[in-house]
Amino acid sequence: MKKYCVYIAGEAVESSDWIDVNDPYTGEIVGRVPSLGEKELDRAVEATHLRGREVLTRFQRFEILNRAKEELSRRAEEFSALITSESGLCVRESRYEVGRASDVLQFAAMEALKDDGQIFSCDLTPHGKARKIFTLREPLQCIASITPFNHPLNQVAHKVAPAIAAGAPTVLKPSLKTPLTAIRFVELLYSCGLPGWMLSVLTGVDSVIAEGLVRHPLVEMVSFTGSEKVGKRIAREAGYKKVVLELGGNDPLIVLSDADMQLAVKLACEGSFRNSGQRCTAVKRILVERGILDEFVGKFVEMARSYRSGNPRDPETVVGTVIDEAAAKVLEERVIAAVASGARVLLGGKRLGALMEPTIIVDVPRDCEMVVKESFGPLAPIMVVDDLEDAIQLTNSTAYGLSSGIVTRDLNKAIYAVKKLRVGTCNINEVPGYRIESSPFGGIKDSGLGIKEGVIEAMKFMSNIKTFSLPW
Ligand code: NAP
Repeated sequence: MKKYCVYIAGEAVESSDWIDVNDPYTGEIVGRVPSLGEKELDRAVEATHLRGREVLTRFQRFEILNRAKEELSRRAEEFSALITSESGLCVRESRYEVGRASDVLQFAAMEALKDDGQIFSCDLTPHGKARKIFTLREPLQCIASITPFNHPLNQVAHKVAPAIAAGAPTVLKPSLKTPLTAIRFVELLYSCGLPGWMLSVLTGVDSVIAEGLVRHPLVEMVSFTGSEKVGKRIAREAGYKKVVLELGGNDPLIVLSDADMQLAVKLACEGSFRNSGQRCTAVKRILVERGILDEFVGKFVEMARSYRSGNPRDPETVVGTVIDEAAAKVLEERVIAAVASGARVLLGGKRLGALMEPTIIVDVPRDCEMVVKESFGPLAPIMVVDDLEDAIQLTNSTAYGLSSGIVTRDLNKAIYAVKKLRVGTCNINEVPGYRIESSPFGGIKDSGLGIKEGVIEAMKFMSNIKTFSLPW
């Protein structure tokens, strides 16, 4: 079985202990990664640190990122196949993911070239002086980035590319469920000229590597994307550090009675089933106004039949597996529990190994676990609402606040929803997950601390502002 070494500041590292990575569809081992210990962790943080080094010039950062974008596009099929093999995401999704990661690299390359300073004249008030204050940004010395399984490449790109653009060294800890793509991506960046000391990638058990990074005194910032449970633990343990937490979601698609029905149905399918429903911003609840419920449900079921689940490598497959059988079982149990509380399954509902069918469920009680918690998979629970006010109240009632989609032709209602929903993003006539890779992105409440990602915001957080003033 193929062994993947990891890298400490560009140097390949192996171990006597190896961790298996499985294909969720076939169950086969698709690779092995080293299980590193505290010694390697310390060595990585020491070596992946700006300490005394010259920050890469803007042109160097641009060149590395731009080359990486070209190289990733050239090797798109190889990366797509690797993502599919370790995540069970179907080829349509893994190809899409490679495209998104290329966009991240492109935006980061563009941002690296921009000046980020400001100038303040000081003679603006009677107390002023003939001086000017200038700002510049300095990169953090060492960032720890911890990424989830659901976008094995794009989540890694969203941590690493802005750090390179900002000039900040990063120690990356990818999910042990999908570390292979992350390791190949790091190798790609080295091959495009990234100096070893700018990036390390480590694998090992969480109690040693992930928790060790979070606590390490030389780490100035922890950038974490993953579950609420682990995120809150990091918030407690990180101590005196910058912390970015991008956590779970429970996003609604609100369908109002004046909606374009074909659009609403399309958005419900794409939002619920893309990426096997494993996007933090996947549609997790569909809130439909009472008067159009029957029409919406009929058309939704009809269109959803074309979302074929099965072998992720089959080009005809639209919905691959979820990450593993245990995750699929949780989804299956939530369907069973919802049915026991009065819900009805109109499509799907069955599980085979890690494959969960795209599932449409109606009459879902508002207090059901499926809709109160994050159900990370291709489940589409439909809940009836009286009006927009009721939809807003229901949306705001859960612990999460990541994103939302509202389908309506009424701009006044759209604006009202934007103002009243307690979430990080509102997309009108779009899925909650719509974004571009450079726009600000992130949630509030249990979905995150409100510190945004997206290339531009991430670069700001990965650097510190220094001001200096001169007589003028
Ligand atoms: P997870 O279980 O929280 O894991 C995320 C990362 O944290 C993995 O690398 C994991 O390593 C690591 N980890 C586990 N225990 C840790 C600990 N004690 N200390 C530090 N790190 C630890 O999340 P997941 O299941 O991979 O990802 C799915 C979740 O991510 C969902 O809730 C989804 O909504 C969320 N997500 C949020 C966003 C966003 O932008 N808001 C985007 C994508 C995903 P191992 O996997 O090796 O155990």
